[in-house]
Amino acid sequence: MNIDADQYAEEIVDLYSQHLNPGLVALLKFMGFESVEVEAEGCVVRDAHGREYLDFLGGFGVFNFGHRPKKIIDAVSDQLHRMPMSSRVLFNEKTARLAAKLAEVCPGRLQYCFFCNSGTEATEGAIKIARLATGRQHIVATVGAFHGKTMGSLSASGREPYKAPFNPMVPGFSHVPFGDAKSLAETVNDSTAAVILEPIQGEGGVVLPPDDYLPAAREICDSHGALLIADEVQTGLGRTGEIFAVNHYGVAPDMMLLAKALGGGVMPLGAIVGTPDVWSVLESNPLLHSSTFGGNPLACAAGLAALEMLIEEDLARQAKEKGELLLDKLQSFQTDHPRMVVDVRGKGLMIGIEFTQEDIGGLVIAGLAQRGVIAAYTLNNPCVIRLEPPLTVTPQQIEQAVSAFRGAVQQTELLVDEFV
Ligand code: PLP
Repeated sequence: MNIDADQYAEEIVDLYSQHLNPGLVALLKFMGFESVEVEAEGCVVRDAHGREYLDFLGGFGVFNFGHRPKKIIDAVSDQLHRMPMSSRVLFNEKTARLAAKLAEVCPGRLQYCFFCNSGTEATEGAIKIARLATGRQHIVATVGAFHGKTMGSLSASGREPYKAPFNPMVPGFSHVPFGDAKSLAETVNDSTAAVILEPIQGEGGVVLPPDDYLPAAREICDSHGALLIADEVQTGLGRTGEIFAVNHYGVAPDMMLLAKALGGGVMPLGAIVGTPDVWSVLESNPLLHSSTFGGNPLACAAGLAALEMLIEEDLARQAKEKGELLLDKLQSFQTDHPRMVVDVRGKGLMIGIEFTQEDIGGLVIAGLAQRGVIAAYTLNNPCVIRLEPPLTVTPQQIEQAVSAFRGAVQQTELLVDEFV
């Protein structure tokens, strides 16, 4: 036993209980996490006891490039020693080059960027810009969606337990079932400013729409002069096997939202990327929407290096190939444990395993933690465990995680048998 490490971990967890969030401490302990992280590299996180964990949660989609990717760390370190924050009145090269690079890789006519620091801020900004650009108020979102937890993005999100305590929500939002083009067509009208969608729902439980859903959404929006906003905060930057998940469906939105992996897993960074038509409404008052830290050079240096790494290392293709390998191995669990596993699904390295009950998923997560693998359930559907490892994960690490998964599922099944 390492007494120093035990004492250190106890002290830190206690500080969380005393000064951060006692309920979260209880939840994390229930999921089998009681140790303190101290360093990380690639797909591996080390705790204060020197134990290693394979990170198959990937920070909820932040670590597409792995932990501490050298190219991104070097770029941030260089910028840190030059000028981390902007004067805000002089022009900055890193901000400009990142915006140009995003315009290059984004589909369709997406050309202009607004930088912020998180996914929820990107959603807030997009809702405001959509209302401004169309002069309309109505926003259509989907049941089970997750767009963030500030008031506007929470109003767009689609799970009541997170919303009801904060009612009233921002007015003007309708929700339709995800993947159902007919409901969308019945709800969008000539007063609709925008439809906001995740191309693949993440926190909703890794839900893939029918192949014709996004093209239908595009058509429905066009026929009513409404904008299509693609929230790629979780699906973007190679995660699903394409640089953006909309690329699977051949659809170009009017605005695309990015965050999480955009900062390369090193800096917080979010963005709204929009078409010239949408952006033209900001010309008369360029300060109508703004952010003190958005587009700071330190974060943009990280974003620029991240996009370069994405292209140079063809990470989208890697995600596609490794995702097929992982999905294939996991699908046998559904056949082998039909009482526990309802479905295994996903695209690229965004994979969801749906269990028959929330508690079963919770026990499997704890079993994975015991075996040195980090995973978590999806926020809007706790029956689903999501696996989103870095796109740089190796086939050996995939094998190791699958073997831990097998052990955790078998152990949970024995427990369930004992108590039922
Ligand atoms: N949009 C999507 C699709 C997300 O998955 C998330 C976070 O999980 C957000 C928005 C909110 O991002 P943030 O937590 O950075 O505010």
